[in-house]
Amino acid sequence: MIDSKLMAVFAHPDDEAFGTGGILSKYAEAGCDVYLVTATRGEAGQIAEDDLATHADLPFVREQELRCACEIYGIHPPRFLDYADGLLPLIHQGQAVGKVVRLIRELKPQVVVTFGPDGIYGHYDHIAVHRWTTIAVELAADATCFPHHVNERCEPHQVSKLYYRVILEEQIQAMRERGEPAAMMMDGVPFSFVGPPMAEITTVIDVSQYVEHKLRAIRCHATQVGRGSRFSDVSADAQEDPLLAQEHFVLARSRVGWPAGVEADLFDRLR
Ligand SMILES: [Zn+2]
Repeated sequence: MIDSKLMAVFAHPDDEAFGTGGILSKYAEAGCDVYLVTATRGEAGQIAEDDLATHADLPFVREQELRCACEIYGIHPPRFLDYADGLLPLIHQGQAVGKVVRLIRELKPQVVVTFGPDGIYGHYDHIAVHRWTTIAVELAADATCFPHHVNERCEPHQVSKLYYRVILEEQIQAMRERGEPAAMMMDGVPFSFVGPPMAEITTVIDVSQYVEHKLRAIRCHATQVGRGSRFSDVSADAQEDPLLAQEHFVLARSRVGWPAGVEADLFDRLR
């Protein structure tokens, strides 16, 4: 995997952990250069236990939590777009796209991963990041776009594959049947999980060997999950839990053709 580069773009520290912690670990271990870009420092998030942070230092604490997770994944330290949590739809889209284009040109990933249009549960910050990243992948290769970037480190770059990280409709349904909340609360309002059915999935990555990495990284995000969370114990059957052991993606843009069946590798056709 020499010269293979993967870049993930998300909104908040911890967005990477549940659905992509496995691929970040797996591709880093395979020798791929793995980068994580996060739009905010998550200052609108919760504080699960009072002594973990104050509202004043929450962005600093969550940055450290994300750095901790990146060390566990074995990837480069996180890059931040330095935007305010909860306000991403209000950001000037051209400015935000320009920031993502600059990072694509600097880091030169063949593969980019971000949210799909559903934002997992319709979170407006997630949907904004989905939009910015999708547009940035298109524009990064065009030298006439953001020409002030173009210098020795930031020449135009063509991303080969863009993936959307998704949660399966069938998994959401199974959560409902088990009586688990298939939603996230935002400002006291439940936002239901949304995802495509398996029939629309192009790519399933087996990360069963990295479930322990994932759980350790999830525990780094202590302000969000708490110290005594259900992720604290690595039970013997965690590697079998499909919510942890497999990560699902939809291939949204490809310059290297399309898979005939379901792919098992984000770098399929790129080696
Ligand atoms: Zn988020």
